[in-house]
Order: sequence, then C-alpha cells, then structure tokens
Amino acid sequence: MTALPKKKHTRARRGNKRSHKGLSTINGLFCPECKEPRLPHTVCKSCGEYNGRNYHSKSDKSVEEETAQS
Ligand SMILES: [Zn+2]
Repeated sequence: MTALPKKKHTRARRGNKRSHKGLSTINGLFCPECKEPRLPHTVCKSCGEYNGRNYHSKSDKSVEEETAQS
C-alpha cells in the first residue's frame, strides 16, 4: 500500500505547482545559407546546409570530395 494523500489539494495549490511546468522557448539559430530558423548542431531542413556542406544534394562536389578522402 503506497502513501495516499489525506486531503485534496486546492485549485490554487495545483496552479502554483503547474506554474513551473511551462515550456520554454527553443534555443535556435538561423541558417547562414537560406536564413531559415534551425536547431543548433543539426542539418538545415529546408536547404540541407551544415558546416559549409550541403547534405541534401548528393551531386554536390564538396560532399564527394569529403567522402573520397575518408
Ligand atoms: Zn538552410
């Protein structure tokens, strides 16, 4: 048998508890290529740019050069 609450908490007490549960704004930044908002350390969803390389278009020369070296 687990511990049971003896009395129902008031609406004010419930609201005070929930006042700390809110979501905060996402810490993001803007893509240098297309200026769209994106999350840090992620490939851009709209243009596929990350760290100066494009990961969406596989025919891109910079990607081929990087994969050939490794
Ligand atoms: Zn982008």
